[in-house]
Amino acid sequence: MSDTELTPTTAVPAEGPNLLPLVFEEPRGRGKPPRHLADLSPTERKELAENAGLPGFRARQLSAHYFARLVDDPEQMTDLPAAQRAELVDKLLPRLLDPVSVRTADKGTTVKSLWRLFDNALVESVLMRYPGRATMCVSSQAGCGMACPFCATGQGGLQRNMSAAEIVDQVVWGARQMATGEVAGGPGRLSHVVFMGMGEPLANYKAVVGAVRRLTEPNPDGLGLSARSITVSTVGLVPRINQLTEEGIPVTLALSLHAPDDELRDELVPVNTRWKVAEAVESAWHYAERTGRRVSIEYILIKDINDQGWRADMLADVLQSYGDWGWVHVNLIPLNPTPGSKWTASRREDEREFVRRLEAKGVPVTVRDTRGREIDGACGQLAASEASAG
Ligand code: SAH
Repeated sequence: MSDTELTPTTAVPAEGPNLLPLVFEEPRGRGKPPRHLADLSPTERKELAENAGLPGFRARQLSAHYFARLVDDPEQMTDLPAAQRAELVDKLLPRLLDPVSVRTADKGTTVKSLWRLFDNALVESVLMRYPGRATMCVSSQAGCGMACPFCATGQGGLQRNMSAAEIVDQVVWGARQMATGEVAGGPGRLSHVVFMGMGEPLANYKAVVGAVRRLTEPNPDGLGLSARSITVSTVGLVPRINQLTEEGIPVTLALSLHAPDDELRDELVPVNTRWKVAEAVESAWHYAERTGRRVSIEYILIKDINDQGWRADMLADVLQSYGDWGWVHVNLIPLNPTPGSKWTASRREDEREFVRRLEAKGVPVTVRDTRGREIDGACGQLAASEASAG
């Protein structure tokens, strides 16, 4: 298939109604998720407790239960007076995620959860255990407004932004599963978080940065993860990448590039009509330069669409125009086809040639393993099949 045949098959208007106008919009209508201590700074938690007529130090005790002991059952919070427990939990630790299904794959080392939020919105997260590390892949929005044609989430548009606590609670759940030994391999520690579930994290900037702060603050105020072990993945919202650069939190930035040329990227990542390849790559380079963190370039390999050898050369040239001082790393992802998609993953030999050409030009490259295929591992597939079933 040639590139020109792409246009009729994708059916994504470059300026579709659910795309650009929603990029920076706040959640609309239908009320907000219940407020939770993970939405608040430690000082704000204390104030909230005091305003409710409860002693301020109780907020810190609750934070310790949540972030350090990973307890969510009020019965186990025996240092809180029984008479105040229900009220404290109701004020600061309301339940945010209701499990619809929890499925495992890869001999129990991959756990994919589908959650129902307070307003019935569905989101998903995936816990992946590897030797020596465990990664939680979280959603940051219910749905997504970016409309990338290969992505299951992109097909349904944006429902709403998630709150910081709704994001954090996915991670705390994963940390609890690891700590209690629920995941195959015995008790362990959740070490990494990737914002690669549903949604565009930088289109929900405030909540995502709030969540990152909660995840990195030391116990008992936060979960105590290292910022370096958190990856924020974006389609390339350039002003927000620049804002993140100034934020001073050294998370790992991943840029979903998927094509080195604007003509193809306009189709694969429609927001490219607003911020071009060169602008997105330049802001990512600036991020690496300022934070000292190596940027990850995500590149899905789609058979006969973006996997040609000349595109590998072009990708290397685009990245190396900013120097070869190790600022960047390419992560190739075999396409996980969404139901009904005409696109498939690249042939093995084309994948190998793509890797070879990047390496020949000195660009560090890895091919992502594909966890959870048999449980609808591709972005948004579980929520999409649940929504269509019910
Ligand atoms: N909106 C953000 C984060 C969510 S998607 C972003 O686009 O980066 C996380 C990663 O999964 C992105 O690199 C995205 O392009 C990729 N992805 C989405 N659908 C996929 C599919 N069907 N197969 C393989 N990777 C997919």
